[in-house]
Amino acid sequence: MRSALGGPRLLLRRLREVMAEPVSAQARLDKIVVLIASNMVAEVCSVYVLRADQGLELYATEGLNREAVHLTTMHAGEGLVGLIAKNAEPLNLSEAQEHPSFSYKPETGEEIYHSFLGVPILRGGNTLGVLVVQNRVRRIYSEEEIEALQTTAMLVAEMIASGELRSIAKTPESFALDRPVVVKGAPMCEGVGLGYAVLHEPRVVVKQLIAEDIAAEVQRLDAAIEAMRVSIDELVAHGDRMGAGEHREVLEAVRIFANDRGWVRRLHEAVLSGLTAEAAVERVQNDARAKLQRQTDPYLRDRLHDLDDLANRLLHQLTGQSYVADRESIPENAILIARNMGPAALLDYDRSRLRGLVLEEGGPASHVGIVARALGVATVGLAANVTDLVEAGDAVIVDGVTGDVHIRPPPDVQTAYGEKARLRARRMEQYAKLRDVAAVTKDGVEIALHMNAGLIVDVPHLHETGARSIGLFRTELQFMLAPRFPRMNEQFLLYKAVFDAVQDRPVTFRTLDIGSDKILPYMATIDEENPALGWRAIRIGLDRPGLLRMQIRAMLKAAGGRDVRIMFPMIANVAEFEAAKTIAHRELAHLERHGHRPPTNMQLGAMVEVPSLLWELDAIAARADFLSVGSNDLVQYMYAADRDNTRVSKRYDTLSTPVMRALERIAAAGKRAGKTVTLCGEMGGRPLEALALLALGYRSLSMSPSSIGPVKAMILAVNLEEAEVFLASLLAKEDGAPSLRENLREFAAARDIPV
Ligand code: PEP
Ligand code: MG
Repeated sequence: MRSALGGPRLLLRRLREVMAEPVSAQARLDKIVVLIASNMVAEVCSVYVLRADQGLELYATEGLNREAVHLTTMHAGEGLVGLIAKNAEPLNLSEAQEHPSFSYKPETGEEIYHSFLGVPILRGGNTLGVLVVQNRVRRIYSEEEIEALQTTAMLVAEMIASGELRSIAKTPESFALDRPVVVKGAPMCEGVGLGYAVLHEPRVVVKQLIAEDIAAEVQRLDAAIEAMRVSIDELVAHGDRMGAGEHREVLEAVRIFANDRGWVRRLHEAVLSGLTAEAAVERVQNDARAKLQRQTDPYLRDRLHDLDDLANRLLHQLTGQSYVADRESIPENAILIARNMGPAALLDYDRSRLRGLVLEEGGPASHVGIVARALGVATVGLAANVTDLVEAGDAVIVDGVTGDVHIRPPPDVQTAYGEKARLRARRMEQYAKLRDVAAVTKDGVEIALHMNAGLIVDVPHLHETGARSIGLFRTELQFMLAPRFPRMNEQFLLYKAVFDAVQDRPVTFRTLDIGSDKILPYMATIDEENPALGWRAIRIGLDRPGLLRMQIRAMLKAAGGRDVRIMFPMIANVAEFEAAKTIAHRELAHLERHGHRPPTNMQLGAMVEVPSLLWELDAIAARADFLSVGSNDLVQYMYAADRDNTRVSKRYDTLSTPVMRALERIAAAGKRAGKTVTLCGEMGGRPLEALALLALGYRSLSMSPSSIGPVKAMILAVNLEEAEVFLASLLAKEDGAPSLRENLREFAAARDIPV
């Protein structure tokens, strides 16, 4: 059915005039509903706004009883309007009263209307309200009319988001947009951060919704799609220009969507209906986002994320706005919100302004998590939908202990957290006082606490925390940040700077652990089905000995005149360790031959993180000067559960009998051979896990700097012999429990051991 007043383009032109008129918000809404009703030849047009309490309040109507405005409220899920808000999808009915969700509000007088069309008012995937038209006659509304109503809904969304409707709201903070939301995620770095949201990939805010010149908008759209396709093709072709965190598979998926005819057709239709190119992208994206929020199938969610990503790229292309947040102008007290990000991207931000980090996808063992811990930023990962729920500038509280993210928290929550932050600061002072206290258990066993590092900015923590040494220096982090493969001399300068900064304390360098998700942006990527099981770490080192030789030479030169400890990652058998050892000894001889000052002592260690080594423990312990357990990888390979795959990474507990038994064997082999065994995976930095490790025989742990205080406090409170007996009794039970966590927690609680 054609509308009487010339279809959607004319409607949009009229709406543009109404939006520009200097009238009150209520008058504008009243004019909008009249305009739509007459354009669509409908007897009724109404706007319902979703309030913070989830009620849908009638804000304007043409055709229904005007007295009902601001009085009639539908509850969430109630009636057809509630259903649209809940599903975030249009509803088009020729006989509304036959629909099972129909609910009659006597004050509105709507019983005489039969046909009904309602669309959600959407913004960023969130429903802000519902827009409805109704007719007496039974009719089905056309696609064109649905689109016109959706476009109008975008205008109303903008009125809500810009704050214009606040003046007519009953209470100042009464919109769904202001609603406090708590998202439960996974704790990644301890601490409490209070501040204001900065979106790592800022959403483009489309202000100009209605086109002045439709033909020109079509041209702009086509040009932007073409430019975006070229830039994606380039990114895929030259992995080197890919920003950190931009994974090839995501780009490949995005490229497929960019060439999808259905998507391009929908965009064209939206522009032809009278929208600007930007508004058209937002319209199509809104639909995708709304679907995304209700999608539970993880595969489909990922695909919809790709589509969302694509729309974002196109919006940035159209507006020329930067794709990532402007690092220079982030506010003090920034809480960074991102879908995911690479470690280098996080380091680009000014640490002194960051109070917290929230990731929608990144999990605790991801590399950005490691960097966040190095920087000591309160971090929560796996926070579902957070990028859709937060608007830039929203107040946000990040609880890195419980994993809660409070978005737009009410005043009492803010006060409670302010208090929590002050308490934490006091606890930090207590930890600082422990700096020079030896980590000795109640029954007199001293534990060596070391620190993990990977960047020169980490090193000062060594002195602040009182750690004994750098027990793991992840050299690849520096490589991941460099614009190209660091030359020998650049590497030498970095290692020298580390030696200078640690002063008289030892440092254990780990040779390059790249591959899998640790991608060097400047190295050609190779397609692997299973990168975590692929060509990585020492495998690359032994197959391309030039790289490994260069790195070891730089380390040995930098160590001139002092002790150096070097360890090799992902050693899977004794032969690999022997091969790496041979290379290191050759380099040492080379250095001496060329008259450089050699290190006073070179110690070579093997990382135990590939399970095959569990059956060569005595052999490896005999040949290595020391062992270091990479529990992050060891557990991932033992359980065949990808540490970065959020769907499985939390499925198995490190505090389980199989993991405990494996770790016990490694500690025992070290003891038999008289070699030090350090555990340097993330579990060593968690007090409860550390307690279990001590009970298994570990006397040396290396962890992120912020963990040293809490782990030391635990050590000072524990009677080790008692803990050993308790853990042994748990391990003796063959009850098949998937985790010993609760038992250990009870043990600690009964003895006031802080874990
Ligand atoms: C580990 O695997 O536990 C480890 C310490 O190394 P990374 O986390 O760097 O792989
Ligand atoms: Mg590892």
